[in-house]
Amino acid sequence: HTVKRVSDSDVEIGLIDNLDDSKGKARAPIVTIMGHVDHGKTSLLDAIRATDVVGKESGGITQHIGAYQIETTNQQKITFIDTPGHAAFSSMRARGANITDIIVLVVAADDSVMPQTIEAIQHAKEASVPIVLAINKIDVEGSNPTKVKQDLLQHDIVTEDMGGEVVVVEVSAIKKKNLDELIESILLQAELLDLKAVYEGPSSGVVLESRVDIGRGIVSNILVSRGTLKIGDIVVAGANWGKVRALMNDKGERIDSAEPTVPVEVLGLNDIPQAGDQYAVVDSEYRAREVANYRKQAALKKNNQSLRGAEVISADQMLNQIKEGKRKILPIILKTDVHGSMEAINSSLKEIEHEEVAAQVVLSGVGALNESDLMLALTSNAVVMGFNVRADMPAKKIAKQNSIEIKYYSVIYELIDDVKNLLSGLMAPIQKESFLGYASIKKIFKISKVGKIAGCEVTEGTVKKGAKVRLLRDNVVIHEGDLSTLKHHQNEVKEVKQGVECGMSLANYDNIKEGDIIECFEIKSEKRTL
Ligand code: GDP
Repeated sequence: HTVKRVSDSDVEIGLIDNLDDSKGKARAPIVTIMGHVDHGKTSLLDAIRATDVVGKESGGITQHIGAYQIETTNQQKITFIDTPGHAAFSSMRARGANITDIIVLVVAADDSVMPQTIEAIQHAKEASVPIVLAINKIDVEGSNPTKVKQDLLQHDIVTEDMGGEVVVVEVSAIKKKNLDELIESILLQAELLDLKAVYEGPSSGVVLESRVDIGRGIVSNILVSRGTLKIGDIVVAGANWGKVRALMNDKGERIDSAEPTVPVEVLGLNDIPQAGDQYAVVDSEYRAREVANYRKQAALKKNNQSLRGAEVISADQMLNQIKEGKRKILPIILKTDVHGSMEAINSSLKEIEHEEVAAQVVLSGVGALNESDLMLALTSNAVVMGFNVRADMPAKKIAKQNSIEIKYYSVIYELIDDVKNLLSGLMAPIQKESFLGYASIKKIFKISKVGKIAGCEVTEGTVKKGAKVRLLRDNVVIHEGDLSTLKHHQNEVKEVKQGVECGMSLANYDNIKEGDIIECFEIKSEKRTL
């Protein structure tokens, strides 16, 4: 028999070994730190990292490779993802990378539960990941850990001392207080989870982030989930592949192999995989190419479909759509320093939901803003944004020639806020009518070449030049339009107040009679915000 491939997607079959992890050996827990901004996530990550006994001995220089591993005095290990926050967590999950075993929820004792604390809890629940609560900043005077625990009750987080199950540790990242207790609690929680992985055989795992490094080429930070990754292995990661040329650990040391839960920097891929992409070791270059090509084609197909379905519109079209009341799209071109930030920004942008407006990322990528990005901005009328990257010279030139503004950011929130402001500007303003006054028609004058002029008396409020009017006959609206002239005696005036007589004529309308009432009003537009 000759084997015939039934479907193109069959190239994926058997890529990741169907090994049973529960038959493997114990592995370290993988921990993500979450919490509200400024509650101390980064400080805590730094403080925990400094407790690593191996790092202290080797004297290596710590490297930011998307995650790090610490070893405790009794040789237990924990891997921490060092991009804190839920945006990174959710964008990884969105790509199917459920690598977090435990979430450390950081809540500042001087600030208690805040919006992102609640979001983090929701993420943890949704992913069914257990929480270890770290109440931080207990060194701050007036801080109140009890209030934090009480506030969390509302969100179904019941700590052990309140009769629940959530382990809580009161810490100070700055004063390095109770860090050992926190680590101990994480290990206890991990023990309950009984985490295991297969150490032998071809390796697979997840890409944390990647970038282009001048001199070294494509650098991918990955976390090994199973098997042992070795120099010389042929790897497929997303739609890319390559032979592992070098491996470097989080202490900046070159290593020959990496076991499960070890984060490593990998050199040798042919292109940049995305954060959350899975990688797998395959047995030949042929197989690697085959899978990578299939995935590239599949991604292109998908991309084309979504680009075709997308509403990328010009400023003119945008104005028309405002009139037609359709949803308006703000096209965005985004370049960032690392994949992690790109994914985080992309998913935050998707979360801005409004029936009238939406942001659409026409292109996003890692690296400097270049000529082709700006050309695309020109054709798609997109807003150009750089996150921790700048435009190169040719790109700057195009921007200048075509008056395209390039916006630079280094804080995700500022970028998102700016997009919200831009979107608010796109939303049709609210039209509010405000009543000005009534004038009753006493007498009609016919003036040749001019038409009919109504001799009126203002009976209530004020009538104003340029105002909108409705003509009422027996309290029924028979016409709506504009006031064309407003005169007092022979003079054009700006406004006429109650009790005063005036001459009025309506724009393009002549069917006026004595006894009719002219209702005068204004339309004010109010800006809306997201
Ligand atoms: P993140 O936004 O959650 O990553 O928070 P950071 O780690 O950047 O910390 C925000 C601010 O809180 C910084 O100014 C830190 O110095 C401060 N901070 C963090 N942990 C502590 C702590 O335990 N005690 C005190 N007093 N300040 C802290």
